[in-house]
Amino acid sequence: MQVATGKSILNGVAIGPLRIYRKEETQTAVSSTLTVAEELARFDSARVKAQEQLGALYEKALDEVGEENAAIFEIHEMMLDDDDYLDAVKSIIETQGATAEYAVATTGENFAAAFADMEDAYMKARATDIKDVSSRVVNILSGATEGNALGDEPSILVADDLTPSETVQLDKSKLLGFITRYGSSNSHTAILARTMNIPALIGVEYDDSWDGKLAVLDGYNHCVYVDPAPELLTTMEEKRKEDLKQEALLQGLKKKPNVTLDGKEIKVYANIGNASDVGLVLQNDAGGIGLFRSEFIYLDSQDFPTEDEQFAIYKRVAETMAGKKVIIRTLDIGADKQASYFNLDKEENPALGYRAIRICLTRKDIFKAQLRAILRASAYGTVSIMFPMIISVREIRDAKDILEECRRELREKGVPMGEVEIGIMIETPAAVMLADELAEEVEFFSLGTNDLTQYTLAIDRQNPKLDAFYDAHHPAVLRMIRQTVEAGHRHGCWVGICGELGADLTLTETFLRMGVDELSVSPPAVLPLRKKIRSLDLSKEPEA
Ligand code: PEP
Ligand code: MG
Repeated sequence: MQVATGKSILNGVAIGPLRIYRKEETQTAVSSTLTVAEELARFDSARVKAQEQLGALYEKALDEVGEENAAIFEIHEMMLDDDDYLDAVKSIIETQGATAEYAVATTGENFAAAFADMEDAYMKARATDIKDVSSRVVNILSGATEGNALGDEPSILVADDLTPSETVQLDKSKLLGFITRYGSSNSHTAILARTMNIPALIGVEYDDSWDGKLAVLDGYNHCVYVDPAPELLTTMEEKRKEDLKQEALLQGLKKKPNVTLDGKEIKVYANIGNASDVGLVLQNDAGGIGLFRSEFIYLDSQDFPTEDEQFAIYKRVAETMAGKKVIIRTLDIGADKQASYFNLDKEENPALGYRAIRICLTRKDIFKAQLRAILRASAYGTVSIMFPMIISVREIRDAKDILEECRRELREKGVPMGEVEIGIMIETPAAVMLADELAEEVEFFSLGTNDLTQYTLAIDRQNPKLDAFYDAHHPAVLRMIRQTVEAGHRHGCWVGICGELGADLTLTETFLRMGVDELSVSPPAVLPLRKKIRSLDLSKEPEA
């Protein structure tokens, strides 16, 4: 038995085979030791295999997401029949004596650069596709695990790191847990793991021999046991059963109010990233959706999701929530959440960069498609709109002007719309300092404590080296939360918390005493939070 330690981002136990995701193993040797004919044959067989994979993906997508969305795989398949592309690959193999991997990767880069320079938006967007197709072929050639990193058997995924877009594309029914070498507990990948209720460890040194071995991921003790001893396996199986029993007990709190012993009530909502998370929201009996991270729709897509595609998703969520509040945060892309088709420049300080509302206000086409989709969906439930990363009154007014423009356009066409509450995220110190002025512009605030902590403490939430300096309970952050609640209430705004701190049960009492109106947490955290709220008595002096 081998034991490795890390940092747990969700308490829980996962038991199953390990599966190493080798996405980085595509270093491509330039010169081949094989003959040109052999390299050409390798390329041809990888190309055929890639086309088979794409055909299968097309069929799967057709079933799951419809013809329009599935079409991308057909386009990819056709690209691998394109004469110019094939000639370029072959010529690099023949003239440079190169490996097929190098020839395909280089052709992919060259074609992508040429497409990216084109005026036509459709052709520009194909730059990402040609890169995708090329890396599929390179992965096949180098024997790396591609695309969905999980096989048929449910397993614990092991990787150097996982980007949010890789994470959203994982087949959740096959994922027992995550183990990563890098990553930080406030990254969006960690947030996704919490949403899915998946035990996960970060900062774990693993080696290739782990692939396929049985393991126990022990989130309580921040470690993983590879090839566990039989007694340990039995103990951990018991622990897992106990967890399931506790979860079942919590289910007994369903339909109970979130009210303290002395009668103070608070709303408990859930955070989601995807329409498919709504099942978890209902299962855990959240009172609404306090944060729909809409950018995950973009991360899960090969190209800008159209207004109609987004409308279908928002409508589904609004309808399923059947009149309960659904707060849709407008696109918060940038920083660690990157989708290649946005073609965003590399930045020195991405967390302080071109992201979220800054992109939306300068790319009105993208913003308007989303706002129209949300407004259309508002006819099917109780939908609110929330703007992220706000730092000024001007930004809110500009965003509201664009929203009004969308409303006018839809009204002229006779499209039905419901009432839409407007709010902002408070996640910059600037927004806290201006909270009185900002509150005049909107109906609610939601504190994004993940970013607010990052910007207040000047600690990059992505950097695991800074964990030792990161104090989630830093008095500066708590004071900012209090100030925001007071300013919001002075101007008739309700105030919630949708950052990870909202689920911190050691702060629930503090938040209630501050007068926070709503806490929005990952779906599995809803019932433990309800249990905590119901155990508090605010009429008693707080414990020192
Ligand atoms: C936050 O910053 O606290 C927040 C809820 O938004 P995100 O984690 O998606 O940046
Ligand atoms: Mg944020």
